[in-house]
Amino acid sequence: MKRKSIGIIGLGRFGSTLAKKVTALGHEVYGVDRDEKVVQKLAPYIAQSVVADFTDEDTIAELHLETLDMVVIAIGEEMNAKLLTAMVLKDLKSPYIVAKASSLMESKLLKKVGVDFIVYPEIDMAERVAQMLSGDHIVDYFQLSKDIGIVEIKTPNFMVDKSLKELELRKSYNVNVVAIKRNNEVMAPPDPNDKLRATDMLILIGQNDEITKLGS
Ligand code: ATP
Repeated sequence: MKRKSIGIIGLGRFGSTLAKKVTALGHEVYGVDRDEKVVQKLAPYIAQSVVADFTDEDTIAELHLETLDMVVIAIGEEMNAKLLTAMVLKDLKSPYIVAKASSLMESKLLKKVGVDFIVYPEIDMAERVAQMLSGDHIVDYFQLSKDIGIVEIKTPNFMVDKSLKELELRKSYNVNVVAIKRNNEVMAPPDPNDKLRATDMLILIGQNDEITKLGS
């Protein structure tokens, strides 16, 4: 895995947790927050940290965050600061910008100014939990688009002792099994002739409504 340089602006609960996690994964984190106490608290855990208030263009530009592989704007509620930061970084040709949105309108505006990836934790998590709750067998869910997701499900009873070839899930449910987790092993791509076991976990990709049918 390539070591990435990642700027994180706003070191609240989201930003500081992200900063520690990506550092633990071997990346180089540059943290920025306007609150000195917050910066001091996180400083021992990350590569570099700076106190700066991202409410004017010069301050944002001075740090040259565009030289980093990516920047995450994790400022909590202040929409103006988030938008300004995104616009300045975009103008400076920052290669990849991620921003945390706290409303749908904010998410749309951030997209409009060219943010590459929007994280909307409350909504993303609610959608994930909704999928997990709606099916008895679904243990994890990752949304790929509005209609399509990847899920991990416990093998439903009707699939046990049958092979993927026999089950023809693509035909009947329009879903693809991309991997099978058996004991501690991940089999990807799965062998279509292999008989599924009750203890297998299936990773599949498909339309949300079809996945829900399969998982219930
Ligand atoms: P989270 O949403 O991550 O749980 P939070 O609820 O603490 O965090 P905020 O306090 O609104 O959310 O913002 C997150 C962090 O961003 C805070 O530590 C705050 O000091 C910092 N922050 C907010 N505005 C700016 C800004 N203009 N420049 C730099 N840092 C900022």
